[in-house]
Amino acid sequence: MARVLYLGGLGRSGTTLVERLLGELPSVCSLGEIVHLWQRDIRDDERCGCGARFSACTFWKRVGEHAFGHWGNVDVERVHALRGTVERTRHIPRLAGAQLPPAQRADVREYASFYAKVYAAAAAVSGARVVVDSSKHSALAHVLRWADDVDLRVVHVVRDARGVAYSWTKTVARPESDGSAEMTRYSPGRSALLWNAHNAAFGLLARRGVPVRRIRYEQFLTDPRAALRELAEYAGVAVTEADLAFLGDGYADLRVGHSAAGNPMRFSIGRLPLRRDDAWVRALPRGQRRLVGAVCAPMLRAYGYPLNPAAVPQEA
Ligand SMILES: [Zn+2]
Repeated sequence: MARVLYLGGLGRSGTTLVERLLGELPSVCSLGEIVHLWQRDIRDDERCGCGARFSACTFWKRVGEHAFGHWGNVDVERVHALRGTVERTRHIPRLAGAQLPPAQRADVREYASFYAKVYAAAAAVSGARVVVDSSKHSALAHVLRWADDVDLRVVHVVRDARGVAYSWTKTVARPESDGSAEMTRYSPGRSALLWNAHNAAFGLLARRGVPVRRIRYEQFLTDPRAALRELAEYAGVAVTEADLAFLGDGYADLRVGHSAAGNPMRFSIGRLPLRRDDAWVRALPRGQRRLVGAVCAPMLRAYGYPLNPAAVPQEA
């Protein structure tokens, strides 16, 4: 049974950075956002984090052979159909129930089995004890709860809703598509609602007995070394001081990874600065800041975020 560290949270919350740092630990293999593997990699042959086309990446080629004989044997239409049937945010209340109706249970398990095969194969090919899926989606985490053959441990990554909202207003290119395409953008009002819904869904998952460790991205960045130690312990992986030598004062030295899909940071190799990005305090217009603050106030408070931006600690 594959042990999976599932990184969850609303997009732009820092999951890609957390995933990259985890991937530097021995016995940990970071896979990127597996939720997009079916379309973007198997179908569209986009680029792996190593820079190669998915079909040309040796790591993923071996994972495909191990899991399915060949990626060409995966019925992507079936994966898409199952996803539409079981993995929607609106399905979470049903997925979070104590029981599932038999027909739905079969669909949920069949859908989860595609992921379980990828996780087990990636663990076998890499020799890692833990694989990391940074798919983020709360509905997928609720689906994986029903899988028999996945040892699921969730890391719920939370970032200040106003920082997340500001990030969603910015234009980010998607380098893997070689050109025109950009990442999705949301208005601050829309991202505030999504922030509430997705974060609440992870709280619900924890109440259903799934191991969920919540980390605040801002906190993570103030002491990445201590934060990674804690996550490694949570994942059941031993780390030594030497294993953390890739972390310096305010930076991380990253090696090549094989992230299948996700934020453009998955392509970063070499020295990456690690610092808090609180640009939203100055750059997010006051009206939007207040709107997001008001919509998200109860959960911001619950997570320990100051509602008054003047109280947000600034970079030195
Ligand atoms: Zn690769």
